Amino acid sequence: MGNLAETKPHAVLVPFPSQGHINALFQLAKLLYLRGFHITFVNTEYNHKRWLKSRDSNSLDGFNFETIPDGLTPLEGNGDVTQDVVSLCQSIRKNFLHPFGELLTKLHDSAVAGVTPPVTCLVSDCFMPFAIQAAEEHALPTIIFNPCNACTFLTSLHIRTLLEKGLIPLKGLKNFRLKDLLDVVRTTDPNDSQVEFVIEAADTFHRASAIVFNTYNELESDVMNELYSMFPSLYTIGPLSSFLNQTPQNNLESLGSNLWKEDTKCLKWLESREPRSVVYVNFGSITVMNPDQLLEFAWGLANSMKPFLWIIRPDLVIGGSFILSSMFENEISDRGLIASWCPQEKVLNHPSIGGFLTHCGWNSTIESICAGVPMLCWPFFADQPTNSRYICNEWEIGMEIDTNVKREEVEKLINELMVGEKGKKMRQKAIELKKKAEENTSPGGCSYMNLDKVIKDVFIKRV
Ligand code: UDP
Repeated sequence: MGNLAETKPHAVLVPFPSQGHINALFQLAKLLYLRGFHITFVNTEYNHKRWLKSRDSNSLDGFNFETIPDGLTPLEGNGDVTQDVVSLCQSIRKNFLHPFGELLTKLHDSAVAGVTPPVTCLVSDCFMPFAIQAAEEHALPTIIFNPCNACTFLTSLHIRTLLEKGLIPLKGLKNFRLKDLLDVVRTTDPNDSQVEFVIEAADTFHRASAIVFNTYNELESDVMNELYSMFPSLYTIGPLSSFLNQTPQNNLESLGSNLWKEDTKCLKWLESREPRSVVYVNFGSITVMNPDQLLEFAWGLANSMKPFLWIIRPDLVIGGSFILSSMFENEISDRGLIASWCPQEKVLNHPSIGGFLTHCGWNSTIESICAGVPMLCWPFFADQPTNSRYICNEWEIGMEIDTNVKREEVEKLINELMVGEKGKKMRQKAIELKKKAEENTSPGGCSYMNLDKVIKDVFIKRV
């Protein structure tokens, strides 16, 4: 090798073996090359084969490729698929250090023989932890390269502390993503008063004689099991809606708790509709939306061509007043009814209702379950994302609409819910959950007995 090569700096770059990571580090490799570096880019054998297959020419003087095995069982087929990331990560921890160390030795020997310039630095993807050890063993400086956003990097740094403090894994919350959790958990504001509020409330929980939940065990069994181990006097007594439906109410029937005047005309209107044909739309008492979002829902509903009952609270739209165009009014006149508040449980239990577009408040969620009605979810805040996650992923009785709502998606999901195969399956599952709710709240059922027990052991005893 000539003098030029001897004086060139030589960077060895090791990406995490997946496409995005490779691309990013490859860009850096090119930049270094353009600045006079000799490059050794290290791929796994599997990815390098794919890389070779996907191009005509691959040689460039001073830009070399080396490979190391990935330690995974070879995939069947043509090997042109992305490998399982979890398996890769495990293999990186177990299998990569040794062959990579051997590669550095080979590069060292090659430099001694004057074939390539001596390695001057290692550039390692931040998720290739073995590289730093190998570099230290070869007395090489390492540059860690973060190919993700800075937030991910920072989060990675916090994970050890969260783990050591016992905060993760979040016990009893299997299959939940951070975005599904109570919004205060996701706060980035050090002075978030909601956080203080929740902490203050939670600090009182252990001082109570008993805690009762408007749910039933089967709905949230993992979380309930975790809570049972923390609180000796905890009782599921729900769904209260189902409880009440099965309890003769006599003169209580007409005693409601709604703060808005109920429009009962909609019940009459529902009478004129086919069984399970109507989409019921209601975003509860707190959710607000901007006029654009209202329009997207409006045209999504209209374009679905399905009959719908839409409750638009007077304060639903930010800014107060809203006007739906006469064009819209004409379009839906034969199949859409808009009202400002309704007796929701009666509506949900009406045979004409086929699906519920909801903001996923817990009451709405559980009332829908008690009516055996599948849902479309547009969670707004607080626990609603969690409820939506349960509805869509755990119980499989709903589908979520993107926060950035678009009429096409609303139309598509309404059709899937009302007449699609998925909708059919979701309805079956919702009916199964309704049955479980009824079993729980019938004499001899768990919630039923829990209510008896908590009344006897706590309510009455304390009086
Ligand atoms: N509700 C109702 N009529 C309406 C809208 C809502 O009766 O037009 C009732 C609904 O049955 C539920 C409650 O209001 O019991 C809303 O509670 P949820 O937890 O679903 O949502 P929030 O209003 O607290 O966001």
